[in-house]
Amino acid sequence: MKNNNSRRKFIKDSAKVVGGIAGGMALAGVAGTNLNANQTKLDSKNLRALNLQEVSEGKRITSSGFAAFGPKYELKAHSFTRHPVGDNDILIEILYAGICHSDLHTVLGDHGEAKYPMVPGHEIAGVVTAVGKNVSKFKVGDYAGVGCMVNSCGECEMCKNGEQQFCQNAKTVFTYNSNDVFHGGENTMGGYSNNIVLSEKFAIKVPQNAKIERVAPLLCAGVTTFAPIKYSKVKRGQKVAVAGFGGLGHMAVKYMISLGAEVSVFDTTDDKRKAAQKMGVKRYFNVNKPKDFENLSSEFDFIISTIPYKYDINMYQKMLKLDGEMAIVGLPSHADNPSLDGNTTIWNFRRKIYSSLIGGVEITQEMIDYSIANNIYPDVEVIKATSSEINKAYQRVAKGEVQFRYVIDMKTL
Ligand code: NDP
Ligand code: ZN
Repeated sequence: MKNNNSRRKFIKDSAKVVGGIAGGMALAGVAGTNLNANQTKLDSKNLRALNLQEVSEGKRITSSGFAAFGPKYELKAHSFTRHPVGDNDILIEILYAGICHSDLHTVLGDHGEAKYPMVPGHEIAGVVTAVGKNVSKFKVGDYAGVGCMVNSCGECEMCKNGEQQFCQNAKTVFTYNSNDVFHGGENTMGGYSNNIVLSEKFAIKVPQNAKIERVAPLLCAGVTTFAPIKYSKVKRGQKVAVAGFGGLGHMAVKYMISLGAEVSVFDTTDDKRKAAQKMGVKRYFNVNKPKDFENLSSEFDFIISTIPYKYDINMYQKMLKLDGEMAIVGLPSHADNPSLDGNTTIWNFRRKIYSSLIGGVEITQEMIDYSIANNIYPDVEVIKATSSEINKAYQRVAKGEVQFRYVIDMKTL
């Protein structure tokens, strides 16, 4: 805690200088050095000073983090640069980055081409250290979050309706492993790093009273579950279920309990039964003990599936009531996609099954405000920013051994 405070004080102090830079003042005396990326040991203090200098000179921003170099859970330290801080951009010093199961899929190329070196990470919480001259939403020293997107066309119907993840001009720029059409087509690099530069429009305001160590996973796991729960209008008294009780699943549980619904959980082991009860879950089912839930037909108003591997979607479908809704957010690899039995669907109770992809900027902001105001945070295990800790975490996430989200403390870089 003490460390955090002194760090924030440092950032606040340096912020004034950066604010000056953004306002066109000279750089005199920033950190008193003339750093050069090639000469300097890239520890976090030097990096910060180097970045401030780069901002003032309109240069590319040096960044240091962890990258996958192939389809293996073997990330290694990696230095690279990001595009300069433009007039509408902000520079965020990353404090914490969550490890999402999507990061594991993307490293393996489960959902499409993987470009290496790949710096994963789309659950980012940090502090603003520089702002471009047109920026109005943030000031230096503010907390900011970044989720799965950093830009989109802003002109199509989807973007105008706040669904930037579905940009009809195919210009959604995802936070990593994505073609940044707004910056010469360079490959984006994610949050397992000390900083990020992005358009202020895609950065999320995080209240200053937030428990910042636990904010990062909200930016993906939070909004991905919050959004369909909102679309399906989950409410008090309803019976609902969460299939897959991991990073996303436990956020779905917390949101639906906060809305007054009666929540059941399906997972592959009994390991998280206690944690579920503590969160207020009414019934916990181990999918490997099917006798325990064989009578659950037409039971639920809403089901959300976060399962990342192959599973029987028809089993859940039958558990929906008349007009019940099921949101699918889990993204198994293409080879493991579950398939729906069309006959069962048509002959049964007008059940609705839909998919949902993260959430647009507006609903992400709404989710952050709701979560902080209602004290809803993920359960996190904070690890150090070293490749061995990150790779160990990947192995454990792959086996479902984490309760419930790993967060990398990027300050330990
Ligand atoms: P986690 O690994 O944290 O959680 C997955 C959970 O699913 C684990 O608890 C695991 O259980 C459980 N599980 C695995 N197989 C089954 C099964 N057959 N039946 C029931 N439960 C099962 O992953 P995340 O929550 O981070 O991500 C989940 C999925 O959501 C991933 O595929 C990810 O890519 C996707 N995702 C989708 C997004 C979207 O926009 N649609 C956004 C973000 C993520 P156990 O502990 O027993 O192994
Ligand atoms: Zn994610």
